[in-house]
Amino acid sequence: MTDRALLHQRCPTLERTLPFLRLGDAPTPVRELTGTTRTDLWCKDEAGYGSGGWGGNKVRKLEWLLPELRRRKARTVLTVGATGTNWGLAAALYARELGIDTVLALIDQPEDDHVREQLRRLRLSGATLHFTHSKPLTIAAAPWLFLRHARGLRLPYYLPAGGSAPIGVLGYVEAGLELAEQVAAGDLPEPRHIVVPVGSGGTAAGLALGCALAGLRSRVLAVVVNDTLPLAASDLTRLAGRTATILRKRGAALDIPPLRLASTRDHLGPGYGHPTSEATAAADVAEATGLHLDPVYTAKAFAAALKTDLDGPVLFMNTYGPR
Ligand SMILES: *Cc1c(COP(=O)(O)O)cnc(C)c1O
Repeated sequence: MTDRALLHQRCPTLERTLPFLRLGDAPTPVRELTGTTRTDLWCKDEAGYGSGGWGGNKVRKLEWLLPELRRRKARTVLTVGATGTNWGLAAALYARELGIDTVLALIDQPEDDHVREQLRRLRLSGATLHFTHSKPLTIAAAPWLFLRHARGLRLPYYLPAGGSAPIGVLGYVEAGLELAEQVAAGDLPEPRHIVVPVGSGGTAAGLALGCALAGLRSRVLAVVVNDTLPLAASDLTRLAGRTATILRKRGAALDIPPLRLASTRDHLGPGYGHPTSEATAAADVAEATGLHLDPVYTAKAFAAALKTDLDGPVLFMNTYGPR
C-alpha cells in the first residue's frame, strides 16, 4: 500500500491540511467484460478495496473521513442508513479500528435475504443500532440520539447517509485520478462513459470531479437507485462543488473544467431496495463474467450499462464489496 494519496501528489499543500488514511490496495483492478450484449465494456472493480471485513466504495470515503474525525477528536459517530446499509457497516468496522464507536439510525427497506444477511453483519460489527423506521421518525429522534450517545459534553459527530459529506467525496476524486493513471498506462482505453450507481451521490460526484481534474473527457452516467434523496445532476454537481471548495480552502490552487455528468432514474423501479426484473437479469449476466453484484445498487447500474444507448468504451464501476 502506498500512503500518499494521488491528490497529495497533485496538490502537495493538501498533505498537511487534508489528512488521508490508506485502507485499501490501489489501484483497483480494471478489466474488459466479455460475453455481454455490449462490446467495449470495461469494469473497475472496487469490491476488493479495503483491509477490514468489508470492501467497496464506502472504504474510499472513510480514508478521508476517519482522519477528519480523529482531527476533531470524535469518539462516537452518528450516522443513518437503511437496514441493509453498506455504509453503516463499513463505517462501524473501520471506525472501530481507530477506537471510534458508531451509532446507526436505520430506516426500513424491503426485507429480503440480502437485507437479512446485512443486518446480521451489522449486529456483529459492534455498532449500536436504533431502528427508527422512516426518515421523519429519524429526524424526530435525532435530538434524543445525540443526547443518548453524548460522552460528557461531547455530542456524537454526525455523518450523512452514505458518507457523502464533501470530505468523503474526496475518496472518489482520488479514484478518478487513479483511473486517469490507468488510462495513461494503457490498462484500459479512455472511457467515453462511466456508469455508476447512486445512493447518496458522493461516488458519482467525486468521480466526475476527479475525472475533470485529471483531464479525462469521460462522461459519468449516475444511475439513481434511491428515491428518498435529491440526486439530479444539478444536486450531484453542487456536492462536487462543495468538495472543490474544501480543496481550495485547504490550499489547493485548482482550475476545474465543467463536470461531465448526467443522471437517470430509469432503472430505479418502484423505489430504493425494491428489486426489478431488469436488474435481476443484469446480475445474472454479470455473474457469468465473474462479477458478483447486489440487488440494491450495482445490479440496477449494470442494467443501465447494458441497456442505455451509449458510445463506448463504457466503464462500469463495481462498488459492491462483500467479504
Ligand atoms: C452506497 C453504495 C453505492 C452508492 O454510492 P453513493 O456514493 O452513496 O452514491 C453504490 N454501490 C454500493 C454497493 C453501495 O453500497
